Amino acid sequence: MRILLIGPPGAGKGTQAVRLAAHLSIRHISTGDLFRQHIDQGTELGQNAHTCIRTGLLAPDEVTIEVIKERLARPDTEHGFLLDGFPRNLAQAEALDGILADSKSRLDAVLDLKLSAGQVVRRIAGRRLCREDRDHIFHIDYSPPEVAGACDLCGGELYQRDDDRETTVCRRLEIYRSETAPVVDHYRAQGLVTTISALGHVQEVLHRALVAIDQGHVDASGTSSC
Ligand code: AMP
Repeated sequence: MRILLIGPPGAGKGTQAVRLAAHLSIRHISTGDLFRQHIDQGTELGQNAHTCIRTGLLAPDEVTIEVIKERLARPDTEHGFLLDGFPRNLAQAEALDGILADSKSRLDAVLDLKLSAGQVVRRIAGRRLCREDRDHIFHIDYSPPEVAGACDLCGGELYQRDDDRETTVCRRLEIYRSETAPVVDHYRAQGLVTTISALGHVQEVLHRALVAIDQGHVDASGTSSC
């Protein structure tokens, strides 16, 4: 199964992507995580992408497309994948369509998570990640750790991503509206999009997503308050 998870920053893409991929036994591939790995490893690509990521801008398409092309060529994606954070604009969507066509495969579903701008800012500003494992995600209001500043799962130190600070969030939201929203329309035209609300508890959203995948596609005609 090949799935795209699209939604504004703070919609819980990362949180849902990890759970959905585990549930469906497919690879979770996040371009944001791939870039952060490059930054941690100090690669040239990481150094080039660092400024964009810190300031909330998109990394250049040619770099991002190369990163995802290389990742999708690995054998562990053969039985499916869930893409989180890619494609972020039409050029990337068209590149993905080309990569899939070359490998004679196609997307099965595009999940479009909806959240209002006000919720986006509240959610992101309170998000905290574990230094030991970035898949361990908390929120100071909605899912606080038992001990402030420490991960419930492994005790790792919790921190705020540079690009989760409020000024950067507004820029990321603006980019989402102008660049990424058209990607949803691109896939809606192919009949692949299901729009679901990102509001509510993690388990509720996960349930909505699994029902949507199970039932094929239920189009919400693009109505959104975000
Ligand atoms: P994310 O973890 O998905 O929020 O991504 C963090 C940052 O990585 C973004 O703000 C961008 O700077 C960069 N990034 C991630 N995915 C992409 C993409 N598909 N295209 C361009 N930049 C990306």
